[in-house]
Amino acid sequence: MTDSPDNLRELDKRHFWHPFTQMREWTAPDHDPLVIASGEGAILRDLEGREYLDGNSSIWTNIHGHNHPAINRAIRDQLERIAHCSALGSTNEPAILLAARLAGLFPPDSLSRCFFSDDGSTAMECAMKMAIQYWQLKGCPGRCEFFAFSRAYHGDTLGAASLGAISSFHSRFAGLGVKTHHVSTLAELSTLDASATRNIAAVAIEPLVQGAAGIRLWPEGTLRELRAWCDCHGVFLLFDEVMTGFGRTGTMFACEQENVVPDMIALAKGLTGGYLPLAATLVTEEIYETFLGEVEEGRTFFHGHSYSGNALGCAAALASLALFEEENTLPRLAPRIEHLRQLLGNLVRENAYVSECRQAGFIAGIDLVDADGQPFAWTEQRGHRVCLAARRHGLLTRPVQDTVVLMPPLCTTEAQLDSALEAIDRAILEVCTP
Ligand SMILES: *Cc1c(COP(=O)(O)O)cnc(C)c1O
Repeated sequence: MTDSPDNLRELDKRHFWHPFTQMREWTAPDHDPLVIASGEGAILRDLEGREYLDGNSSIWTNIHGHNHPAINRAIRDQLERIAHCSALGSTNEPAILLAARLAGLFPPDSLSRCFFSDDGSTAMECAMKMAIQYWQLKGCPGRCEFFAFSRAYHGDTLGAASLGAISSFHSRFAGLGVKTHHVSTLAELSTLDASATRNIAAVAIEPLVQGAAGIRLWPEGTLRELRAWCDCHGVFLLFDEVMTGFGRTGTMFACEQENVVPDMIALAKGLTGGYLPLAATLVTEEIYETFLGEVEEGRTFFHGHSYSGNALGCAAALASLALFEEENTLPRLAPRIEHLRQLLGNLVRENAYVSECRQAGFIAGIDLVDADGQPFAWTEQRGHRVCLAARRHGLLTRPVQDTVVLMPPLCTTEAQLDSALEAIDRAILEVCTP
């Protein structure tokens, strides 16, 4: 790093437009942007050398920790050969092996075909366009609409955003993308008759837990019932495991916990261990085969991205998947999931400003309320302020409104969990005590 911290911060404020950020607040004279300079395991270090626990896995991406020697080595080895070549008209070893490896993570002959893209949003776009084209190829062009759930989040590109239903993110662009009907519960779906489902290509859901909605858990059995409903109505089931995939909920994929296999699945965030942008949409052989034909039949899936099957990203993903076996990641995670459960139980019992904690594996949502147990006015930004206060106690994370989210890398130790919960407890008391 050659630039001085002050100069970097000034350049940031002058030129860098940050995502999901009110830039007037960000560029205010009294705001010092946090500049992360390095990381190791679950720890991030800023330019001044201060250390923080990465309490949201760098926006839900990191799996085995930062600067992991095995993933670093895999990327470096690949870099010595080639960083990228096109998947249009050629192919490459890491992408081939990764496609096979991902298919092998699902039951035999289920999700056997892998289409690469760049991030969670594009993985969802691919799935949606595949579903729409599938039904066209089957002679049902009217099946081009979707069902999704209230408070869903499936990404920010226009197609993926049409599936979303979080008003602050989505209402501004509502109606501009793919036609989507939102339902709040399975019961609501079951009341619909054939006329309401005739035009539906697929149902999209975040399995087990809706992340951006504020860590909202589905009732047990939801995925099984939804699978049965989709089979009954001849509609595709599309799982968005962009956040839940790769061990976050305690199993490799959340859908394993209900033994349900979808027709299509979107994977991104943790795919490369949180190192590089890479995504995959996996579908059944039946969907894939529907696109086969002579060139002049026009069945080809005309969709792709410049960096599809990027060799560096695929090498990182292969290394991350290998680590699950080499480091025995999931069996070793189980006791720490229990430890987190105890810590959250203590927090909700002992902190008067915490009304509820929800947990799915290594994902937690902590709801804030005032001394009377009532929600704070959203304009007070209590969740945001609690996260800023937690930073002073060595924890970095972000809220969803007044839900503090804790989703650290899977390598986070029991002692680090203890410190994280202590930081959150103290931060809440500082911010919420009148
Ligand atoms: C983050 C997220 C997305 C979007 O992924 P990006 O990589 O940010 O485009 C989609 N679905 C879910 C469930 C997510 O959490």
